[in-house]
Amino acid sequence: MMAAIVAAQKGNKVTLIEQNEKLGKKLFLTGKGRCNLTNACPVEELFDNIVTNKKFMYSAFYDFDNAATVVFFNDCALTTKVERGNRVFPASDHSSDVIRVLKKRLESLGVMIRLNTKVLDLVLKEDENRISGVIIKDNKGNRTLKADSVILATGGCSYPATGSDGRSFDMVRKLGISLKEAEPSLVPFECTDTLIRSMQGLSLKNVSVRAECDGRTLYSGFGEMLFTHFGLSGPLILSASAYIRRSDYEKGIRISIDLKPALSPEELDRRIIRDFEESLNRNLDNSLGRLLPSKLIPAVIKKSGLDPGRKVNSITKEQRLALGKVLKSFDIMVYKNRGFDEAVITRGGVDVKQIDPATMESRSVKGLYFAGEMIDVDALTGGFNLQIAWSTGHKAGVSQISV
Ligand SMILES: Cc1cc2nc3c(=O)[nH]c(=O)nc-3n(C[C@H](O)[C@H](O)[C@H](O)COP(=O)(O)OP(=O)(O)OC[C@H]3O[C@@H](n4cnc5c(N)ncnc54)[C@H](O)[C@@H]3O)c2cc1C
Repeated sequence: MMAAIVAAQKGNKVTLIEQNEKLGKKLFLTGKGRCNLTNACPVEELFDNIVTNKKFMYSAFYDFDNAATVVFFNDCALTTKVERGNRVFPASDHSSDVIRVLKKRLESLGVMIRLNTKVLDLVLKEDENRISGVIIKDNKGNRTLKADSVILATGGCSYPATGSDGRSFDMVRKLGISLKEAEPSLVPFECTDTLIRSMQGLSLKNVSVRAECDGRTLYSGFGEMLFTHFGLSGPLILSASAYIRRSDYEKGIRISIDLKPALSPEELDRRIIRDFEESLNRNLDNSLGRLLPSKLIPAVIKKSGLDPGRKVNSITKEQRLALGKVLKSFDIMVYKNRGFDEAVITRGGVDVKQIDPATMESRSVKGLYFAGEMIDVDALTGGFNLQIAWSTGHKAGVSQISV
């Protein structure tokens, strides 16, 4: 939508083609229905939050950054507010307002919006690597629409029910343009460990999580995570997933949770001794209530190899230290994520080497431009993925020759 708006502002005749019955189905879901449309951090920090191919974004971000995004939406009569972590939302808390103002702007610029219309293929000029149009399918059947240029902003593969089913990658591949393998990112983890199931619904705040594979630390972070009926989720887990590749899952990822990151092992041991002294005649499973949420206690005791019914006064130093070790490193093995159906974004897509970052035009097919999640650039949560979409969409739109 951003690309169409900017191309139309330059005086081009623009048609926006959307296969769904309405615009912005995925946008509607963003930010749990509130749309975290960008992040109000200093522009340099935008790059820190990009996981893959940050350099590719230099020109697009400096051309149309997060501040420009806020100005753009404010100009569209959408008031915005900034929340924790610099996350920007519409003041109304309704993602539908973001879609509404974009649609209004498209209409006021005379962009022709064709809904229920699917792009089936891209058409090139005869004997030339130059776009001449697209083949579309609508209620009248299949036909060719002529165009001097095409901006492809068809998304990745995540949440396919919203329309971004990854099939348009095939159209691109057919033109000889290389793509990086699409993988789910910002995605929860699936675990088979039965201990995890017993902790379903438990949310942990102020913990540290480290993801390791083959002795390499892929990610470490501090914050919040969640145990679910299938495994692990929550902000820390989604962020960790952004750094884990398919081949890593095959080898197995050790997720190590430090349940007491503020305490050194020695401090933690002293804390356990203090708690134990106050419950010498209690069973172990009745003595950890001040240290841990109740849902976590059986799992911690089991991982420590201790008997939950053992009297605290009979616990040896070695056993106490074993308990402390598990509290500092509660380990869970992960071999699988929840896939595209539950991935917030797709990592991979059109290889950035194939795109001119100054225009978003394909280096090999003239008149073909890319924008948004279909490009092999991805970021962490916090409004950064939509900022990538706005900035690349703006860049592609502004690169259209005005008529
Ligand atoms: C649940 C959820 C919450 C999210 N929350 C946030 C958030 O709060 N902040 C944030 O920054 N990011 C968020 N994201 C990520 C963000 O939504 C995406 O990165 C962004 O929408 C990508 O924009 P896009 O235009 O590239 O693709 P999309 O938004 O996926 O749009 C692509 C459009 O192209 C259409 N299309 C595809 N193929 C064809 C075809 N062949 N013919 C015609 N039309 C076609 C699709 O129907 C779709 O409407 C969230 C994602 C999800 C799934």
